[in-house]
Amino acid sequence: MSKRIVCKFGGSSVADAEQFKKIKKIITSDNKRGIIVVSAPGKRNPKETKLTDLFYSAHDLAVKGVDISGPWNVIRERYLEITKNLGLNSDTVTDDFALLEKQLREKPEEITEDYLVSRGEFLCAKIMAEYLDAQFVDSYPLIKFDKRYRVLGQSYTDINQALSDESKIYVVPGFYGSGTKGNLKTFTRGGSDITGAILAKACDAHVYENWTDVSGLLMADPRIVADARPMSYVSYREIRELSYSGASVLHDEAIAPCRDKDIKINIRNTNRPDDAGTIIGPEVEGNKEIITGIAGRTEFSMIHIEKSMMNKERGFGRKVLSIIENQNLSYEHSPTGIDSMSIVVDSKSFSDVEDNVLEDIRLEMNPDSIKVIENLALIATVGHGMSHNVGVAAKLFTALADEKVNVRVIDQGSSELNIIIGIDENDYEKAIKAIYKAFVS
Ligand code: ASP
Repeated sequence: MSKRIVCKFGGSSVADAEQFKKIKKIITSDNKRGIIVVSAPGKRNPKETKLTDLFYSAHDLAVKGVDISGPWNVIRERYLEITKNLGLNSDTVTDDFALLEKQLREKPEEITEDYLVSRGEFLCAKIMAEYLDAQFVDSYPLIKFDKRYRVLGQSYTDINQALSDESKIYVVPGFYGSGTKGNLKTFTRGGSDITGAILAKACDAHVYENWTDVSGLLMADPRIVADARPMSYVSYREIRELSYSGASVLHDEAIAPCRDKDIKINIRNTNRPDDAGTIIGPEVEGNKEIITGIAGRTEFSMIHIEKSMMNKERGFGRKVLSIIENQNLSYEHSPTGIDSMSIVVDSKSFSDVEDNVLEDIRLEMNPDSIKVIENLALIATVGHGMSHNVGVAAKLFTALADEKVNVRVIDQGSSELNIIIGIDENDYEKAIKAIYKAFVS
């Protein structure tokens, strides 16, 4: 493992020149921070639109043959304002803008959506490199995907070589790479996190710092538990189990590359650089809190099927799950009884295919009854500390019972890493508060 630190700065951290200045301080305060990944500039206030979204709009208008001036002028002004306020020469980006605009207006069919949108991070990285007096390295030729979107092994070698000089500072745009035919491909939204993780893996980084606008992760949603405690350490596995939480700070796919090499991910706040933030890393032995965090989400539905002698009918579960799969639906949980099976699914995705799913189950499985339970919330209580600890479930269910919360689904993985409950949506906040109070407050 090298001593180098990969730092990724998200949209809010590069939203304007003042944020760039904070980044310079962060980078110069530790000379191990040699590899910088940036997102496209984000919102400066809640009313604004992220530049990435404006790039999508501009492309949409251009291919429809409609004037792009609306979003385009806003995008250009934002970049020019940043360069101006940093005292940089605007030539860094004006030529790029002129060329892109000409293409969009004259030959929009020659510019793909992925390419145009990727300019959000590309231009931001160019400005950042100039401002930090660092070397700009484009991610397009370095990060290559196969047809199934997996990063090719060769990419790791190429990245390692391209960023090999440990005395230098490199700035790399996040969010994209190239597909099998040399076409530029973006990741899914929020994908600059993945770029940072790939670079961290390729360079055997000591730590991957993910700089954002919060000082790490909290043990529960602060909109529900106002004084929720910060998590100082959470394992890779725990963070996956906590991914139900609506506002996820880190892209799901950024974990795996770091996990492959046990590289710790440190979530940090650009606006409060002295805060230690949260570390996401390998499991650690030793005395831990019983729970690490609580996360949940509403808007789930449960399909409940009953059929006598179900347990003797071979392949029943497999067939039901293939019906779900054939409708392109993924499922969250599947609690079973001897003559019953339930499948918990996301309500929004389910509503599009509900009739087909129910009809197929009726026709193919011939159940005694089938019903759909709507408005379900799932809550995951997560922590390695629960394992082999007597009384955890008792404490959790007592807390819920005391608040008169009826539990409809219970699921505890055999790893004892989590207990997931399904409850009526109306009890959602009450339940989170009750669990938090029982284990944390
Ligand atoms: N700019 C991209 C997005 O808005 C990628 C990122 O910010 O990570 O999704």
